[in-house]
Amino acid sequence: MTPLATSFLQNQNFIDALYIVAFGLFVLGLMGLTGPGTAVRGNRVAAVGMGLAVIATLLPPGIGNWGLIALGVAVGTAVGIPAARNVKMTQMPQMVALFNGVGGGAVFLIAWAEFRNSGGFGAGTPTYVAIFSLFAAIVGSVSFWGSNIAFGKLQGLLPGRPITLGGAQQPLNFVLGILTIAAAVDSAAGAHSEAIFIGMLVCAALLGNFVVLPIGGADMPVVISLLNAFTGLSAAATGIALNNPAMIVAGMIVGASGSILTNLMATAMNRSILAIIAGGFGGEVALGAGDGADGDRSVRSTSPADAAIQLAYARLVVVVPGYGMAVAQAQHTVRELQRALEARGVEVEYAIHPVAGRMPGHMNVLLAEADVPYEQLKEMDDINPEFQRTDVALVIGANDVTNPAANTQPDSPIYGMPILEVSNARSVIVLKRSMNTGFAGVDNPLFYDEKTQLLFGDAKSSVGEVVEELKGL
Ligand code: NDP
Repeated sequence: MTPLATSFLQNQNFIDALYIVAFGLFVLGLMGLTGPGTAVRGNRVAAVGMGLAVIATLLPPGIGNWGLIALGVAVGTAVGIPAARNVKMTQMPQMVALFNGVGGGAVFLIAWAEFRNSGGFGAGTPTYVAIFSLFAAIVGSVSFWGSNIAFGKLQGLLPGRPITLGGAQQPLNFVLGILTIAAAVDSAAGAHSEAIFIGMLVCAALLGNFVVLPIGGADMPVVISLLNAFTGLSAAATGIALNNPAMIVAGMIVGASGSILTNLMATAMNRSILAIIAGGFGGEVALGAGDGADGDRSVRSTSPADAAIQLAYARLVVVVPGYGMAVAQAQHTVRELQRALEARGVEVEYAIHPVAGRMPGHMNVLLAEADVPYEQLKEMDDINPEFQRTDVALVIGANDVTNPAANTQPDSPIYGMPILEVSNARSVIVLKRSMNTGFAGVDNPLFYDEKTQLLFGDAKSSVGEVVEELKGL
């Protein structure tokens, strides 16, 4: 490259201009993510923005060891692309938890490297750099370890139920919090001791584990988005310490949107964010009829033919989709069922619970993919009053989000979570494969209700068989 070209590319004004374009693309990308129709384009636009931000970061002279940078890019590409291509939609939350954790891990390692580079945050380091680096190290470490636990729980590597140290949990968390802050203050005051810095990282790591391990039941969505917000905030803090505008802007976007999402999810689940951080809920999981053997309670099963007759002669059918619909990839067959029912004059609506499936908006995305008109998707608060006039509530692979124990059993780990009130419908047909519990691992009294019938089998096959029966009526 000619010296003129090099000096143009390394000119600070040019680099700043690249950053500004990148930030514009981040914001445009985020706007695209607000609707299923524009989300893919939004993702691509944001990715181009991130590409520009990376280029702008690498342009200044003396950026570092190019061999190591190339190695990092090669390893990231080799791991990231196959992982993103091969992940199943239903495994997306684990993937998000893992990527989130990697972000937090990168942030605390950068802070550690900065600590070593500057020989501890001594006299030569501005106070704000020390404070933001230490904040990033602590929050990044909490986020890394917490996200790993969340990944383990979602992937089934760790039990989904709350794991606690009982009464010792909260005092221990408190002590760890105090030790972490004390070590940070000591480092900021210029202690220069790497052992204290590492001790701070270890305390934060233990805190990350101890905060997420006790969270069980159906509360995982809130904690995932909280950790996401933590990672964003820690990345922004690192950006301030390193004077890197891309990290500040991207980190703040993730931190702000993650915080808003956490607040929305916590409100939807009727939970307090403070209680989550304190490990104050979760409770013991009341494992119920996981194997169907539940005392003298029995369930009524039905057949595709009987289900088709009930649906065909209904006036209003409300479809309640859940995680099982995603597993079975039944959304297209469900759309076929909707068409068949509407052709017979039956009104069809969909009830969308904010945490149905395994990620925010999971059901909206699947149903949009199957071309279900957006106006037929009703949020929980809008659909619940409708169940009074519903002839058949058709529950397709949903479980926790319909569980009346959330209203009636104070000792249940999902107590207080608002649910879809399907038992107010005249009859309920539940499609599932067995008497297995849902994500929260709790029994669902809805299945034993006298109005409820269970159509056992894979959701896609069952819905397909119902559609066939409908055609023959
Ligand atoms: P659940 O996990 O409660 O239940 C899913 C049901 O689907 C199970 O009863 C299962 O029963 C059934 N099922 C699974 N595969 C199939 C299949 N192929 N065909 C038919 N049925 C099937 O799902 P919900 O959507 O009701 O609730 C979501 C849960 O996940 C909540 O507890 C929520 O808190 C949690 N969560 C949500 C996240 C989010 O952001 N949305 C993120 C993380 C967790 P069976 O095995 O008998 O078939």
